[in-house]
Amino acid sequence: VIFNKWVTDYPVIGEHFEYVANREVTHELKEGEILTRNLYVSMDPYLRAKMRGLDETDLFGRFTFGQPLDNHAIGEVIASKNPNIPVGEIVYSFLGWEEYSVVPAGQYVEIIKNARESKLPLSARIGVLGMPGFTAYGGLLRYGKPKAGETIYISAASGAVGQLVGQMAKVLGLRVVGSAGSDEKIAYLLNELKFDAAFNYKNGDILTSLKAAAPEGIHIYFDNVGGRHLEAALEWILPRGRVVMCGQIGDINTQNPPGVRNLFVCVPKEISILAFLVLNFEDEYKAEFEKDVTEWLLSGKIVYKEDVTEGLENAPSAFLGMLQGKNFGKATVKIADL
Ligand code: NDP
Repeated sequence: VIFNKWVTDYPVIGEHFEYVANREVTHELKEGEILTRNLYVSMDPYLRAKMRGLDETDLFGRFTFGQPLDNHAIGEVIASKNPNIPVGEIVYSFLGWEEYSVVPAGQYVEIIKNARESKLPLSARIGVLGMPGFTAYGGLLRYGKPKAGETIYISAASGAVGQLVGQMAKVLGLRVVGSAGSDEKIAYLLNELKFDAAFNYKNGDILTSLKAAAPEGIHIYFDNVGGRHLEAALEWILPRGRVVMCGQIGDINTQNPPGVRNLFVCVPKEISILAFLVLNFEDEYKAEFEKDVTEWLLSGKIVYKEDVTEGLENAPSAFLGMLQGKNFGKATVKIADL
């Protein structure tokens, strides 16, 4: 899947990026390189920032015209000039949205141990046990500082990050309120994930719905959306409340973001707004995260919904669908069978 043009609003398939069949690349493997047959690639909102072509996107890097997009992915090593990464291993790394990738010497590659026998799906390494899961875990614990008995509100609550934040908060004894963009997602939050309350933000005023869902107010807002969701949360958050600013997906696909009109309420209420980037606390929590989440998944204490799209040719629509809320759970593309 090739990137063609900077994006201003939603990306258009065929204009900004497109699937190209039978693209041939010749490359002789050099010392330290490996060749992977790609199995799964993750669809993450931050990739949209790499499509903007503005200076501030240098935080994430930018896609290159005429080259495949790339992201967190799983592949099988089919040729190797790296003695530490033998042929046959299943690896997690940063790979192209393509069938085969050459991984340069020195790039981070993790061998997934017992990948073929694992009780958890391979795709978990780019979902609940990968970057989005870690975002939920580190973001909630480090910045939310949750305490039993408090109320947390989570936007985009059925998504890759949100569903784990909510279930972790339940494990920790909080009252959990979520919002999402369809009645089906709301039913899932209430019935499967056991949220205490949830509302469809498309069915009315967000602040009114939030007040009804959390009549006593909220202590923590885990913000995946920004804009009018953040505005409503600031209005209803209790004094000394914490906002975990995880993402602003409601603002990234438009040149006229709805924005927040009431930031001043943070002053008298002494609200902390804490933004973070997952990359920066990886070392601090990694072992704890992997142990806890693996245990919770295997024991059934938490569940995790994935939205797996089959076929690389469908990756552009899977990505666009994720930006538009058509994904139901962690959005991933399956490129090939193991
Ligand atoms: P999701 O799986 O939640 O998918 C994105 C969801 O966002 C959509 O399904 C849709 O759900 C919702 N959405 C899209 N547009 C809007 C809108 N205008 N208003 C409200 N909701 C909208 O994605 P992730 O869980 O991967 O990411 C969630 C957030 O976390 C993103 O903002 C992302 O950028 C951020 N993030 C931040 C990281 C960090 O290091 N700080 C790392 C990883 C993710 P719905 O149907 O409910 O509208």
